[in-house]
Amino acid sequence: MPSEFDLIRRHFDHDAAHCDLAVGDDAALMRPRPGMQLAVSTDMLVAGTHFFADADPALLGWKTLAVNVSDLAAMGAEPRWALLAIALPAADEAWIAAFAGGLFECARAHDVDLVGGDTTRGPLNMTVTIIGEVPLGAAITRSGGRPGDDLWVSGQPGLAALGLAALRGEAKLDDDGRRRCLDALHRPQPRVALGLALRGIASAMLDVSDGLLGDLGHILERSAVGAVVEVAALPLAPLLATGADAALARRCLLSGGDDYELLFTAPPAQRPAIQAIGRRLDLPLHRIGQLSGEPGALLLRETDGRLHPSAATGYDHFG
Ligand code: ADP
Ligand code: MG
Repeated sequence: MPSEFDLIRRHFDHDAAHCDLAVGDDAALMRPRPGMQLAVSTDMLVAGTHFFADADPALLGWKTLAVNVSDLAAMGAEPRWALLAIALPAADEAWIAAFAGGLFECARAHDVDLVGGDTTRGPLNMTVTIIGEVPLGAAITRSGGRPGDDLWVSGQPGLAALGLAALRGEAKLDDDGRRRCLDALHRPQPRVALGLALRGIASAMLDVSDGLLGDLGHILERSAVGAVVEVAALPLAPLLATGADAALARRCLLSGGDDYELLFTAPPAQRPAIQAIGRRLDLPLHRIGQLSGEPGALLLRETDGRLHPSAATGYDHFG
C-alpha cells in the first residue's frame, strides 16, 4: 500500500515553472509580477453531485482544473498556480495516475503550476484553489454592466447539458452530435485567451457554469441592470444539428450548466473590436441581447416579437 507521501511524490509533484518553491514543503512560495493583482478562486467537485463516481478519472482530472481555470478566464486574469485538495476512498494508484494525467494535461495547456495541496482518505471529492494574475485594476467583474451595453456569449452554450441529458437517456442524439456534446461535458475548454483579450473592452463578465439565464441574473444583480435576450440571436441551430429535439435544445441553451463559455457585456462601440477578437481566436461570439435600465428585469424576446419575463433559472444546489 503506497503511503500518502508516495502518492504525492509519484503523482502530484511535477516541475513548477513560475514559483520559487512548490510541492514538498509546508507552503509554496510564489512571486506575483510587479504591477499585477492576484486573482484567487476555488471550486469543489463532489462525487454524486458534480460527476458520477465511476467517471473516467483522466477526464475528471482535466475538468477539475478546467473549471477553476475558467473562473480566472472570467475575470480577465491569467492562471498561474493551483493547489489541489483531494479526498480519496482508497489509494487506487491506477485511478490516481489517470486523474493526475488529465489534471496535468490541462495544467500544461494553460501553463499552470500545481504548487501544493492536501491528500486524505474520504468520500471522493476534489477542490482546486487557483491563483492568477491580472494588471492592477484590469479585472473584469460582474458589476460593470450599464444600460445599453450589448450582451454577448462565446462558443456553443447548451452542448454540455445535452451531453448530460444523453448520458441520462433523456436525449436522442445522432452519433456525431453525441460525441460533440459529451466532449463539451467532459473536456470543457476554458476561454482564457478570450478573457484576456476582453480586458478594457468588456464591461462585465462571468463564466457560464450554472446556465446562461441563471448566470446572467448574477450580472444583472451585481450591475443593478436588466436585460432583454433576443431568442432569434441565440445559437440554436448547432444544437439542433446534434439531432436533439427543439424544446430540449432550447432548454439546454438557456438553462443548461457546465459549458464554461464566457457571458459578457460591452458598449455597442466595441462591436468591431469584439468581432475582430472572435475572428482572431477562431471562436464564435454571439451578440444575444442588451442590458436595460430596469434592475433585475430579465426579458426574452421571442422570434415573433413577443416579450415575456424569463421563467428559467440556473442550477442551485440548495434550491
Ligand atoms: P502538511 O503536513 O504540511 O499539511 P502534507 O503532508 O499534507 O503537508 O503535504 C506535503 C506536501 O505535498 C505539501 O507541500 C503539500 O502542499 C503537497 N501536497 C499534498 N497533497 C497534494 C496534492 N494532492 N497535490 C499537490 N500537492 C500536494
Ligand atoms: Mg496536509
